[in-house]
Formats: sequence, structure tokens, C-alpha cells
Amino acid sequence: MKLDRLISNLPDYSRHSARLLIASGQVCVEGLIVRDVNAEIDRFMSVTLNGQCIQAANPARYLLLHKPVGFLSATQDPQHPTVLECLPAALRSNLHIAGRLDRSSSGLLLLTNDGLWSRRITAPEKKTPKVYLVSTAYPLSPDTAERFARGMYFAHEGIMLQPAYLQQLSPCQARLTIHEGRYHQIKRMFHAVGNRVTSLHRESMGSIVLDPGLRPGEYRPLTQDEVASI
Ligand code: URA
Repeated sequence: MKLDRLISNLPDYSRHSARLLIASGQVCVEGLIVRDVNAEIDRFMSVTLNGQCIQAANPARYLLLHKPVGFLSATQDPQHPTVLECLPAALRSNLHIAGRLDRSSSGLLLLTNDGLWSRRITAPEKKTPKVYLVSTAYPLSPDTAERFARGMYFAHEGIMLQPAYLQQLSPCQARLTIHEGRYHQIKRMFHAVGNRVTSLHRESMGSIVLDPGLRPGEYRPLTQDEVASI
């Protein structure tokens, strides 16, 4: 949001008078005078006008949840339990999901109230690696890894996927790294090579790794280093 817009939303101030207040050094953001009339702020920043608080900093929240199978990656749903129900009510407000998992999938799920941060992790051009443990209905065919590594074509969206890396662990199990998060991407990739995913578990996103000790339904706040890694 523009700083002058925040001020002109207060009673008694027009956009013009807000800009004059900023230019004359009467407005502080995070304790520092800002004279740039085009300055942008977000709701995580404190703002004062002549020493009076007009916006208190809303603390940013970053949570890592071990999503259990059967929970929907949504904030509310009339039919199914949602991942928000795994969190205490006091933490839920304004949270959204940074990279959904299907209801039948489990593993690392990130939730935050910081939209810029979540856009950085989910934007396809950022190519954040996401690592999944995949079980399949049929043994992996010898050409699966190569076809994934070449990049597959998704006709419905008319896009080429980024190369994906498959490490076979057993006849019907593999670790797969993808770099974007298209709708049902992994299930559709396996379907395209004549196979079917029977279970899907996300182990990591970028350098953020699901803790082995965190049981399904449990969560923890991200560390400062994990937040900064995105
Ligand atoms: N790809 C899928 O098909 N499902 C998921 O939950 C995540 C990636």
C-alpha cells in the first residue's frame, strides 16, 4: 500500500495533505522519517504521524506444518477438515498456504500471513526445488527418469514443465524434485508415463526441510534463517 493512501484513509486528511505531511518529515516508518511521497508500506510496518501511532506493526507469521493425509489445503471447507484446523485458533487469522498439497498428500506445508514471501516461494520463475517421496501403483518404467528430466508438455495449460529429477528408491518408490507447482503436477506426470501415484509426501521446499520428529498434524514456527532463505 502507498504511505500517502494510509494517511488519507484517516479522517481529516486528503491525499494532497497526506503527501505534504510526508514531504515535511512528519511521518515515520519503523521509527525512521520517510520523506518520499511515493513510499510503499505493508502491514508489517509501524507508522507514526507526529509521534502518534497510525499503524501498529502486525507481526509476520511463518509456520511449517506436517500436513496429514485427508486434510484440505484450504482455510475453510464445508465438507472436509482443513489444514488450519491443525493450528490453535489464535494463530489462524490471515494465514494462507504457500504451495498447496492435494488432500491425499502429506508432508511439508508452509503457512504465512506474508503475501510477498509466499509469492517468492511459489512463483514458477523462482524455480524453488520441491522434493517429494512418491509411491506408484506399477513399477517405474526405465524411461520415466529421462522423460521427466527432459521436461514434459502439459497440453491443457500449453506449457513445458521445468526438468524434474527422479531418483528411484525401489521398483515402486522414488524421490522426485520439481521446480514449480502446477495443478496436480506430479500425479499428472506419472499418469502421462502410464503409471499412477498411490502416495505422495513432500519432504522439502528450497532449503526448508520437514523435521523427522514432527508428526502428522504437528507444526512449528520457521526459524529466522529459514524465513530468510526464501
Ligand atoms: N503434485 C501433485 O500431484 N499433488 C500434490 O499434492 C503436490 C504435487
